[in-house]
Amino acid sequence: MTHRRRAVYHRVRHTAVHGLTPALDSLMQRLLLEPAAASARITSTFRTRRQQAKLYRRYLAGMSPYPAAPPGSSLHEQGRAFDLGGLSSQELQTLGQTWEGWGGRWGGRFGDPIHFEL
Ligand SMILES: [Zn+2]
Repeated sequence: MTHRRRAVYHRVRHTAVHGLTPALDSLMQRLLLEPAAASARITSTFRTRRQQAKLYRRYLAGMSPYPAAPPGSSLHEQGRAFDLGGLSSQELQTLGQTWEGWGGRWGGRFGDPIHFEL
């Protein structure tokens, strides 16, 4: 019984903090421990469809340096993606390769090097 309550608590906590799936959240925490991530900031995690639509409009208007997927098609809306800021392109490259080695998909392969998804 105690064990079950603890499991539920963890699920709730993960959802409350980042809105990410537990699998992505734990792999993200692991990535943040990598030396190349020392100066990393998490700049985006879960997005509602409305937030994604706003971001997409900004992207279409040329107001964002990074691509945004059309609303309804971003893994951010499913809690399965996050973005990192504060890193050099070399650091992002290093982290991207590590991420891919763990089975994740790195946005550097499609023009979005700050983006990591699972
Ligand atoms: Zn992203």
